Order: sequence, then structure tokens, then C-alpha cells
Amino acid sequence: MMVLELTGPKEEFDKGIKYLNECGVKVEPIARSVRRIEEICIHCGACTAVCPTGALYIDRKTMEVIFDTEKCGGCELCVKACPPRAMEVSF
Ligand code: SF4
Ligand code: SF4
Repeated sequence: MMVLELTGPKEEFDKGIKYLNECGVKVEPIARSVRRIEEICIHCGACTAVCPTGALYIDRKTMEVIFDTEKCGGCELCVKACPPRAMEVSF
């Protein structure tokens, strides 16, 4: 398993991923591997202070902590910051 950070024009990015797939390499965005265990989360908000991409934020109306997986960059900072260990990374 290899973790890569890729940047560049979308066209080139897509070409690179296509090439890897053709070589039989399974490519998966790391963000998909970060998840929140809903039964454990107590919506304390600690993770929102460390999340650099804004994937974890407080809904001011409900005061619930929302996890927007599309914005997650996979940095794992929330995993250590979460007191009850509700954030988890699986590969
Ligand atoms: S730090 Fe953990 S318990 Fe607190 S809101 Fe974030 S995921 Fe939920
Ligand atoms: S892994 Fe990083 S980017 Fe993703 S939710 Fe946690 S702190 Fe935010």
C-alpha cells in the first residue's frame, strides 16, 4: 500500500489514475477511509478546532458537529484530537 498526495490539472490527474488502473493498481481517495463512529461521537467540537479543511464543523442551528467527507483531506488530526476516539482511519 502506498499513500500519495497528488496535485495538478484534473486532466493530467485523471490520465495518471487511468494509467495506474490499467496497470492493475487499485486507487482509492484516502478521505474515504476516514470515518466517524456516530454512536461514539458526543458532538463536543474538539475535532473542529484541528481540522484544516473544514470537513468537521459545527452547525450553529443544531450545535451538532457535521462531518463532510467530501472535504476531508485524510490528515488524521481529528483522530488524536477526539476525546472518546470517535474518528477512525481504516485502510
Ligand atoms: S472530537 Fe470526537 S466526539 Fe467530539 S465532535 Fe469531534 S468526532 Fe465527535
Ligand atoms: S482527517 Fe483531517 S481533514 Fe479529515 S476530518 Fe479529520 S482533521 Fe479533517
